[in-house]
Amino acid sequence: HIVTVMTEHRAVLDPCHYLEKLGFEVTILPVGADGLIDLELLEKSLRPDTILLSIMAANNEIGVIQPLGAIGAICRQYQVLFHTDAAQAIGKIPLDVEEMNIDLMSLTAHKVHGPKGIGALYVRRRNPRVRLAAQIQGGGQEKGLRSGTLFTPQIVGFAKAVELGIKAIEEDTSHLNQLKARLWEIISQLDRIYLNGHPSQRLAGNLNISIEGVDGAALLLGLQPIVALSSGSACSSSHTAPSHVLTALGRPESLAYASLRFGLSRFNTLEEIELVGEQVVLTVNSLRKAKNF
Ligand SMILES: *Cc1c(COP(=O)(O)O)cnc(C)c1O
Repeated sequence: HIVTVMTEHRAVLDPCHYLEKLGFEVTILPVGADGLIDLELLEKSLRPDTILLSIMAANNEIGVIQPLGAIGAICRQYQVLFHTDAAQAIGKIPLDVEEMNIDLMSLTAHKVHGPKGIGALYVRRRNPRVRLAAQIQGGGQEKGLRSGTLFTPQIVGFAKAVELGIKAIEEDTSHLNQLKARLWEIISQLDRIYLNGHPSQRLAGNLNISIEGVDGAALLLGLQPIVALSSGSACSSSHTAPSHVLTALGRPESLAYASLRFGLSRFNTLEEIELVGEQVVLTVNSLRKAKNF
């Protein structure tokens, strides 16, 4: 038995569905309207045969940060392994595998300004020792877990990116919070817009909004000349269905379609943010006007 959450990345949900086909049972927990899990519900979902709980550290669409310390404490109490997909969290928020009782942690380099094509899996060695089956059989590299000659330049680039990211967490967070506050200030001139996800328990660089009466794709077209934007998640942008994350928050389909996620980075400037904000306001107003909304 495995427990995970509706708002997980497909990198977690798809393997869980695959495991179901192999005979595992999977419980997929709902989230509240703010994107946070309910710890009581989580505790109740654990069974004597539960082997793993997988909950992401920070959501890739709405930036919501789950209470990792409290989740880890519950997992330890019930002796269930705790895996967290921390792809969005590394270098953005403090992570401590000891304090948070994390047994397995997945990371990827390109979300922290590192090179694409490399990731890492932290595997706890003691208290408890996590035993995994090999992902790739062969020469026995990576303690036999993932055979194959290591890609040294990617590894070095990944480590450097994480080192720089972690060093700058405080500075980046305050810079990004300032940029985000300014962006929200400009965009919230519009009426009938809604923030998706918890207002404060989220990544500093993430702003996700739903805009009534506007199609996300049309909005993207209007903004494309000046900014790199995506609606929903890049990893499933080929899907036309509304985001499973926004649907999990209880957003009606009409609002889940008309959503926009801003991912701000430490390299963004106030001038860029103001330009984008003003362009969003102009584009939304003209799209609404065209529809007499
Ligand atoms: C990007 C991302 C992934 C996938 O990582 P890739 O290295 O791009 O395959 C998984 N989970 C989350 C939360 C992500 O943001």
